[in-house]
Amino acid sequence: MPDLTANTIEPVGGFQMQGMMMRYNVFMPRLYNWCLSLGFEPGKIMPSRAFCSDESQGYPIIMIAKHFGTFPFNHGRVGGIVATDRHGPHAEHGENLVIIQASHIGYDPQTKNFGSYRRLQTAHQGFSPNCGKIYNVNTWYQDEYQFAQQNILLHTYNGMECIIIDNQLLHEDRDEGLFLRLNRLIQTNEEDQRLPLNILSTAQVFAASTPLVQKVGKQAFSHNKPQPIGTDLNADMFYFKRNILEIDESSHHLEHNLIRYMPQIITSPTPMLMAAQINTQIEFDRTFRTLVKEKAYHGKKVLFISGLNIDISPQTGQLFPLTKFIPWAASILEQDGSFSTLEQRELVQVLEQQSTDNPSQIDLEAAIQVMTEAEEIKVELNS
Ligand SMILES: [Zn+2]
Repeated sequence: MPDLTANTIEPVGGFQMQGMMMRYNVFMPRLYNWCLSLGFEPGKIMPSRAFCSDESQGYPIIMIAKHFGTFPFNHGRVGGIVATDRHGPHAEHGENLVIIQASHIGYDPQTKNFGSYRRLQTAHQGFSPNCGKIYNVNTWYQDEYQFAQQNILLHTYNGMECIIIDNQLLHEDRDEGLFLRLNRLIQTNEEDQRLPLNILSTAQVFAASTPLVQKVGKQAFSHNKPQPIGTDLNADMFYFKRNILEIDESSHHLEHNLIRYMPQIITSPTPMLMAAQINTQIEFDRTFRTLVKEKAYHGKKVLFISGLNIDISPQTGQLFPLTKFIPWAASILEQDGSFSTLEQRELVQVLEQQSTDNPSQIDLEAAIQVMTEAEEIKVELNS
């Protein structure tokens, strides 16, 4: 567990979206052809996917099956977490291995909003959060943040800019919640103490710090009544603590990944998109380390690629989302144990150089027809 109280905020970024997206019908033949260019042997490649359980991830899985000629191994847990304890079985199922990890985010082309997705099978074909897991994880943090936004007030006290903070937010001995970086908000006195100017029934009044006054402007303090700090409560002014069960790769794993970045996520204009990007970045880094150590992959060629699935809500007449993939990074493990990593721009360039023509792709309808017409095989039970 990182020291969440450290007086710095976690840097986020690096993930570019502009000019990086490709539709799955383009991405998948390119990925297949890239594998061939790396010496992967057609017919001996076992793809796997580490996707969320959401049905919106079905179309990418169908495209993997179509272009790789086999249904992909399931390497994923809800939220786009990689089940690293499945490396061994995956390695046994092919000579050349591909792992595609993606967090996902819905997109509504009408409103241009990230984070929602049309559920065609619901009564009114309404929208719901996507990725629902990320949405659920974010909600607790957003509620805590909203309470703080409403219960930290700016005003004046004896002609001095002051900040009025709810007592709950001042209790440092809580196990969970939003904790303020008080040194950024409150001015210390000559003895370097943060003593209240006044004590109210449910809150305390402090002198506002000079950086806070400079940041929000003196006029923010000069209203007749105390005003909530609102959106001026920035990501560098607080952090979160929460008791999350410490079980590796459980349903809590996503929250473990995100908690230290939550101040930036929930203050971002697109919190779910930022959460999905960060999860992809963390899962690539974490999984890469498990791959190079995994004995079952030794002596085999492995390509691991991470990115973000943008699930563009299906429009009238469409069964599936028009999913786009934004590559983030890839790692290639060679049979001799050596490995190389491609960063986002380089990875996109490599993929763009590949042909979108894949003569090996299968006709799924024809394959299903073959199975339908195949002679019945009786399953014999030993008595
Ligand atoms: Zn999801």
